[in-house]
Amino acid sequence: NPAITLSMRLIPYSENLWLLVARDVTRLLQLEQMRRDFVANVSHELRTPLTVVHGYLDMLDPAEHPDWAPMLAEMQRQSQRMTQLVEDLLTLSRLESADHLPAEEPVAMSTMLSTLRREAMALSQGRHEVSVEDSAGVDLFGSGKELHSAFSNLVGNAIRYTPAGGHITIRFRKDRPERLNSGAMAKDTGVVLEVVDTGYGIPAPHLPRITERFYRVSTSRSRESGGTGLGLSIVKHVLNLHQARLEITSEVGLGSTFSCHFGAERVRPREPLDIALP
Ligand code: ADP
Repeated sequence: NPAITLSMRLIPYSENLWLLVARDVTRLLQLEQMRRDFVANVSHELRTPLTVVHGYLDMLDPAEHPDWAPMLAEMQRQSQRMTQLVEDLLTLSRLESADHLPAEEPVAMSTMLSTLRREAMALSQGRHEVSVEDSAGVDLFGSGKELHSAFSNLVGNAIRYTPAGGHITIRFRKDRPERLNSGAMAKDTGVVLEVVDTGYGIPAPHLPRITERFYRVSTSRSRESGGTGLGLSIVKHVLNLHQARLEITSEVGLGSTFSCHFGAERVRPREPLDIALP
């Protein structure tokens, strides 16, 4: 059968013998594709009815029906949440089935950082201190739209999982130089975009699974915070498409740091005209 997919592993057996283990994963891949298609189709079909419900809810004026006001507000909140969930599911299906970025371009990082800061302040509504540190002095090369969605998910989480009075730092810096195979240090270093918070933190046993779809440390806290449970999966996929890596360090009660490491091949000189707005 020409359309067969094998997964192969070479395992050391003895000093001069290796074992080649081949597994037929054709059916597994087909099932995985069916699951992705199903989720994408359901999400797509849910979009229209949700838009209608949302639209009619918006037309109901709570001032005309004071008794209904709390129920209307809750219905609007929940339909907003469902809309966000459907949008996140569609984004994830799109990212999962892409094996490369459709369009790559230089991404103006001063503009990106000031947008992220504005978004953080809007979400926080004055409850947190937000600061931006930009010492990298370069731009990234990739998909501006996808990178923005990843970074903004990290910033949103930092605000949502940090109690009032906490501090959020959005930092863009050079990475530490890598050691080459020859033992010398690489001349070109990559860059890191990191979001640091002084929030609740994540207990160590949860860290390996935190980027899985719908994986949550505390279901009740996450529900209350209004997240969809898909944010970090989206971040992981966007970074994979940029050959970048997510590193998470966290201490319960002290806070978390989510670092996105980009290789030197993703670095571009900064556009001189990209001047950040205050
Ligand atoms: P959610 O929509 O639930 O926030 P995510 O995929 O963005 O989904 O995050 C998964 C889980 O990781 C969250 O439910 C939360 O428990 C934990 N988490 C994510 N970011 C942070 C953070 N900055 N501080 C503490 N916990 C976090």
